[in-house]
Amino acid sequence: MSILNADLHCHSVVSDGTMTPEDLAARAAANGVELWALTDHDEIGGQHRAAAAARQHGMKYLTGTEISVTFAGATVHIVGLGFDPDDAAMRQGLADTRGGRGARAMEMADQLAKVGIKDAYEGALRYVGNPELVSRTHFARFLVETGVCKETSEVFRKYLTEGKPGYVPHRWASLGPAVQWITEAGGMAVIAHPARYKFTANEEYALFTEFKAHGGRGVEVVTGSHTAAEAVKYAETAREFGLAASRGSDFHSPDESHTDLGLLPYLPGELTPVWELLADRVR
Ligand code: AMP
Ligand code: MN
Ligand code: MN
Ligand code: MN
Repeated sequence: MSILNADLHCHSVVSDGTMTPEDLAARAAANGVELWALTDHDEIGGQHRAAAAARQHGMKYLTGTEISVTFAGATVHIVGLGFDPDDAAMRQGLADTRGGRGARAMEMADQLAKVGIKDAYEGALRYVGNPELVSRTHFARFLVETGVCKETSEVFRKYLTEGKPGYVPHRWASLGPAVQWITEAGGMAVIAHPARYKFTANEEYALFTEFKAHGGRGVEVVTGSHTAAEAVKYAETAREFGLAASRGSDFHSPDESHTDLGLLPYLPGELTPVWELLADRVR
């Protein structure tokens, strides 16, 4: 085992989490996290705050983000770690990726209105901490608040996933540029929660092969989104493709997340942890 309590995946109010970077840092430290990264969707606006809060709690810190990418017609998430948060090309790429979210959200609300759910755009906005980052999660919270569903996972199942009435297809960043923004800013690109994508074996092979060809170097093995069996499977994939392994809770909210910050199994010892390759980027 690699017995470092690293949690390199979570979200704050800067994207679709419910806690501030400072409160997340306190919670991570209380749970024993030694190395932390805040990875807001398509955003790095919380990075300086998170790094400062980590330092106050005596945790090491890696910069982080989680970029939305469209690959083989599906959405794939690429985590970036250890990049320079002031890198201009990275900042521009993320701004472009965020760009379509407002129009998408209005279209989602129009679709929901057609099935009788009114004022969902205004409702979702009440949960948004960052006006550039309206996400499906904010709609899910509104639909729970108004009693349409009991919990956010039910909202996704019934309304916000492909084929359901509030789902609006969206074109995110492409894989190559996303990996390059991270890499050229001095960081490491990591495939987030690979078990979540419903790819065929061929599509998954293509994802890992193209990701490597673009300069990607890591994959999440132990995550709040994986079962124990999935962690075993992707440990094998990491070895097969020569990728470093990452670990992260994907924590969003004390009320919604099953896996709390830092409270997940350690990485299997035969894998190279991403933080070994990022030692000079740790703050
Ligand atoms: P978006 O970037 O707007 O498409 O929203 C994606 C976010 O929705 C993810 O990062 C998760 O936080 C959340 N999400 C996606 N699928 C589910 C699900 N089945 N249950 C709960 N949350 C989900
Ligand atoms: Mn999210
Ligand atoms: Mn994700
Ligand atoms: Mn995430």
